[in-house]
Amino acid sequence: MDKHECVIIGSGPAGYTAAIYAARADLKPIMYTGLEPGGQLTTTTEVDNFPGYPNGISGPAMMEDLQKQAERFGTEVRFGLITKVEFSNEIGGWHTLTIDEEKTIQARTVIISTGASAKYLGLEAEKRLAGHGVSACAVCDGFFYKNQEVVIVGGGDTAAEEATYLSKLSPKVTMLVRREELRASKAMQHRVMNSPNIHIEWNTEAIDLVGEKVLEGVKVRNSKTGEVKVIPAQGFFLAIGHTPNTAIFKGQLDMDNVGYLITKSDSTGTKIPGVFASGDAQDKVYRQAVTAAGTGCMAALEAERYLSDLN
Ligand code: NDP
Repeated sequence: MDKHECVIIGSGPAGYTAAIYAARADLKPIMYTGLEPGGQLTTTTEVDNFPGYPNGISGPAMMEDLQKQAERFGTEVRFGLITKVEFSNEIGGWHTLTIDEEKTIQARTVIISTGASAKYLGLEAEKRLAGHGVSACAVCDGFFYKNQEVVIVGGGDTAAEEATYLSKLSPKVTMLVRREELRASKAMQHRVMNSPNIHIEWNTEAIDLVGEKVLEGVKVRNSKTGEVKVIPAQGFFLAIGHTPNTAIFKGQLDMDNVGYLITKSDSTGTKIPGVFASGDAQDKVYRQAVTAAGTGCMAALEAERYLSDLN
């Protein structure tokens, strides 16, 4: 059996920061990257708010730097998805993890940093047209809709950032905002308002998508006036938030009704000895790269203390 002192699940800022600290503490961490190595930041453009980058940095470049930093201290980064966990309730017990439904390994401490994934509206047409006009990542897929009209749903920072990105590729970007105001920060709101080809439809929700094989338009309803119309569009982007990637822990760890893992107060500790949760999988409040990195650091320090207490 492949046995390790510390296994980190997930490769976003939380996972890599945990890896840097765990590796420097000589825990010889093994990281499983998940299906999206580098996590959500690999689908973003500029990161302007991570301390230490006065000129900003691209999300993918930042994740590459984090990986190199973690590997420099001896983290072993493995591509693979943890598909099942069997946690031990005993102090010092071995936790068993299944990778890609095949191989199993055991870990004395597990740091969960599985992050979160984009939400969809739940329209049947979203599935039918996935990859043929529907996307939850403007930065990944926007290029395919160059010079075409696009619609983006949401009014938060992600929607504002992605609308601005799309406005550089598309002649017309329509933002569907379900209320009368944006949730996005003032700085992001200014960017949207200063982009002449972004048009906001307030109090408006998408109710269906038009097009059999490829998207042709978005059917929307104004909740104030009741007006229903079709906005012609070839691209439809979702930017309405995320769901934590915690399904595999159901029944073994405490989580709230959305699926965010519940940790002890002022700690990343879960109810299972030696299992720690960090980053967006357990943070529904801040959800920033820097806060994810902070809780990744906490998780590694707590894992180290847990292991030294065992000895
Ligand atoms: P948010 O939860 O902040 O915003 C989600 C948006 O989608 C809101 O406008 C919400 O409307 C809307 N929405 C949710 N569900 C639906 C629905 N079913 N139909 C229509 N609209 C819906 O998520 P974000 O992904 O934008 O941001 C997450 C976090 O990441 C935030 O803390 C944000 O600040 C941060 N972030 C920071 C960035 C940066 O600083 N550069 C970039 C991107 C994200 P309502 O307001 O009515 O709830």
